[in-house]
Amino acid sequence: MDVRLERLSKSFGANPVLKSLDLTFPERRFVTLLGPSGCGKTTLLRIIGGLDMADEGTLRIGGVDAREIPAHKRPVNTVFQSYALFPHLTVWENVAFGLKMKRVAAAEVERRVAAVMEMVEIAEFAGRKPAQLSGGQKQRVALARAIVNEPQVLLLDEPLGALDLKLRKQLQVELLGLQRRLGITFIYVTHDQEEALVMSDRIAVMRAGRIEQVGDAEALYERPRTRFVGQFLGSVNLIDATVVRRDGQQAVVQTEVGELRVDMAGQTSPAALQETFTLAIRPEKVTLCPPTEAAGENRVRVRVEELIYIGSETHYILRAGAQTLSVEMMNVKVGSQGFDIGQDAAVYLPPGGLIVLDD
Ligand code: ATP
Repeated sequence: MDVRLERLSKSFGANPVLKSLDLTFPERRFVTLLGPSGCGKTTLLRIIGGLDMADEGTLRIGGVDAREIPAHKRPVNTVFQSYALFPHLTVWENVAFGLKMKRVAAAEVERRVAAVMEMVEIAEFAGRKPAQLSGGQKQRVALARAIVNEPQVLLLDEPLGALDLKLRKQLQVELLGLQRRLGITFIYVTHDQEEALVMSDRIAVMRAGRIEQVGDAEALYERPRTRFVGQFLGSVNLIDATVVRRDGQQAVVQTEVGELRVDMAGQTSPAALQETFTLAIRPEKVTLCPPTEAAGENRVRVRVEELIYIGSETHYILRAGAQTLSVEMMNVKVGSQGFDIGQDAAVYLPPGGLIVLDD
């Protein structure tokens, strides 16, 4: 079942929180709402779940206007970061609660609860109370309690936010597997960019109540349209550029580090048509080379200012005049990588790795 928003808006008093959102969550896909704290993610999830109402615009769930479906009848369930389990009920009773409320026959409750508890691997805790579980186990109970109702759409509000990194990574993989097996639409809220990249078929980046950009992980990472998206999804080097000449799909720009050739094919930002714009390049797209290789197109002489060795990679902070560049290189050579603090070096900025950004 898909979920569609058209010009959806919501204010709390004089404070507009969602500003005319247009967005589709396709059927059976894993879509993530990614954005900083306070950008409106939870509010949007609450509106889809029927816990809150939009002021304007439409919300359709499976093609039906959501105003015609009361909250308890929506084919939607929510998993909250806080788990929201009933403390006085056992794990089994927590999972069975929704079905009992719907007066599902006892034998079917038994069957469905057993199947779901098996699926999320909590069968052995059936008789325990929530207080006797770890955070990860509680989260599995919360998941079981939502999916036992067989929703067509599952809303997940930072469900892994309270867990430590290792458990979070493990549950990320499990959640993905679950989504594929259940074949239902997942709408997942997080402010963790890595989690969004790992899990989503599609990511909608939100900023102050608006959708800034929508795309799959690769499109958003490789082709951010704005500075906000570029910086929110990983790190970028930003370079001010003024166009010197254009030649078909190529442009030559003047920058703080000299002239650079930029591949203009595939640039998605409207700023690509302007005469001045900001260029971005991801640190791992820049190649660090010996100073003897400083001559030639898109090559820049630099000095190594800082060097952070992290095992598989080394991160370098480099200076070229007033411009600072960060570069991340895999440590593919055995032994020293050959660059030290204070040393002269050169970098190559590939024309295809330079991204034109808006704002
Ligand atoms: P976080 O990641 O911190 O949970 P979020 O993106 O989910 O943030 P929301 O919880 O949707 O953000 O809140 C968006 C804005 O709306 C915030 O400025 C918040 O203070 C405000 N807000 C949320 N709920 C209410 C409410 N019931 N009354 C008034 N303002 C509210």
